[in-house]
Amino acid sequence: MFDRLVGNARAKGVLRRMLAQRRVPGALLFAGEESVGKFRFAVELAKALNCLTPQGVEACDRCSACARVPNFQPPPASDDKERGRHIAWSGHQDVGLLRLERSFITVEQAREVERESNFRPREGRARVFIIDPAERMNANAANALLKTLEDFAPTSHLILVTSRPASLLPTIRSRCQTVRFSPLAAEEIEKYLVATKRRAGEDARLVARLARGRLGEALELELDAYRERRALMFGVLEALAASPSDTARLLRATEELTDAKRKDGYESYLDALTALVRDAWLLSADPRAEIVNEDIRERLARLSVHVTNARAARWLSRVEELRAQLAVNVNRRAATDALFLSMAAA
Ligand SMILES: [Zn+2]
Repeated sequence: MFDRLVGNARAKGVLRRMLAQRRVPGALLFAGEESVGKFRFAVELAKALNCLTPQGVEACDRCSACARVPNFQPPPASDDKERGRHIAWSGHQDVGLLRLERSFITVEQAREVERESNFRPREGRARVFIIDPAERMNANAANALLKTLEDFAPTSHLILVTSRPASLLPTIRSRCQTVRFSPLAAEEIEKYLVATKRRAGEDARLVARLARGRLGEALELELDAYRERRALMFGVLEALAASPSDTARLLRATEELTDAKRKDGYESYLDALTALVRDAWLLSADPRAEIVNEDIRERLARLSVHVTNARAARWLSRVEELRAQLAVNVNRRAATDALFLSMAAA
């Protein structure tokens, strides 16, 4: 059932209408940012098309077809070209998936989909092939696929999943019906985390707000690590907000931040600092503002008194300047010292 998926009410409406009118196109393009549920929706559509006891037009989530469709197996490691070896078939004989084998989706992979989509369904009502990430098809694969799109069996469907629709050949895009996916609302993610018992209370709230609309990010986020980073950066914000700014404390923070054990997470520390500055800035304008770090609202509110509009704006742009420098090879220690001192002077 589409209701079990989080967010994207409009995409749900579009897909339900296609199913109700029995007009699911031969080629669909699921486009939207990373981690907003495109792949799950593709699987759900494949289930709806093959469910043995559909509820209305949707999958029942109980029959054996519904249970097997989401269960993709790695392609067989055989060189037998007749049997094919590129499609990751699901537990259902009519639903398959093309993933990256190397850096691109190759013409051999596309040809196998082309061949398979000529067949009638083996056990269900529709053959569904999901290609994810579709923007990684090389030109030959895309051309092989174009042929497929033209003479498809009416019971075969191709779902191209992409976070970069602009990277697809225009000829492919124009032959597909596009379904757009949006980032999820923080409330939608929070509700899901609570309902599935993954997080509760203020943890659920914080994770949902840190996830930037991406369910995948919410599920993978390591909250303890975030809180550790945030504690260090809260100290930085306190030192900045003191008048005059506490430069000795800022330089100590640089030492901690550029310590070898934190080498890999450096940019996530900057993320934490940015979120804190934004929150304090919002609170300085409106004590009831919606903020990310809701669980430390009171501490942020006390600080926000010292965070003026102009200062917060300058702080954020200094951090962005440092981010740009990170792309080239910079000495982090020197750059962080310079960052904090220039923020203190801002
Ligand atoms: Zn079912």
